Amino acid sequence: MADKLAQVRERIAAAATKAKRETSEITLIAVTKAAAPDQIREIVSLGVHDLAESRPQVLLQRAAQLNEFYQRRAVYGEGPPPSKIRWHMIGHLQRNKVKPLLPLVQVIQSIDSLRLAEEIDTQAAKIDRKIPVLLEVNASEESSKTGVAVGAAVHLAEQIDSMDNLQIVGLMTMAPLEASESAIRNVFARTRELFEELRWHKIGRTHMRHLSMGMSNDFEAAIAEGATMLRIGSALFGTKIVEAETSLE
Ligand SMILES: *Cc1c(COP(=O)(O)O)cnc(C)c1O
Repeated sequence: MADKLAQVRERIAAAATKAKRETSEITLIAVTKAAAPDQIREIVSLGVHDLAESRPQVLLQRAAQLNEFYQRRAVYGEGPPPSKIRWHMIGHLQRNKVKPLLPLVQVIQSIDSLRLAEEIDTQAAKIDRKIPVLLEVNASEESSKTGVAVGAAVHLAEQIDSMDNLQIVGLMTMAPLEASESAIRNVFARTRELFEELRWHKIGRTHMRHLSMGMSNDFEAAIAEGATMLRIGSALFGTKIVEAETSLE
């Protein structure tokens, strides 16, 4: 795990240098889809405090397991938990999953409809939180992809910006899995242009700072186009998806 993480960090540093950017403005988010529970603890101990899941149920289980582990450790005097673990929700979120998820999640990156935003706003108000959110954009305009259409994004971002218990902080996108390097780069460039448009409109004001784009196979291109959050799974944990049930210890 330490070797894989070091390799990923080297690739990030090289891509940042090439793009004349600081690595400090790029956050590595470990996507734990294919990680065993002990690997999650290991990557946290190696200093990666941003974790992500694409399935709400799995995020719930893993976040709860991790909390329990650190609580148990604290009871035995083996040191306090890492000061800050942030769980990011990055996959399709149904409205009926919002309420149970909110207490364990810090950032929701996959907002793609007004109805979902409204439900998160309502539930966040009940627990007196303001949730940082990213709008998921379908910048490749493939019909199979999730996310809001580019043409509808400004309006939806404005609506989210008017909600008391949501703070819009950026955009998230996914490039097509099988596409040429230039097609992938185009998707990231379009997302960055949209991001600049939102900033021009002062949507989210100074909080509008994040472009979540780039996965294991395309994050160099995302860094070149200004990504501030990379969502990396397989380069760290391999590709074997760990099911929710078997991840219970
Ligand atoms: C799985 C997933 C990732 C990570 O992809 P890898 O190719 O494994 O790095 C990133 N973002 C989302 C939304 C995902 O579902």
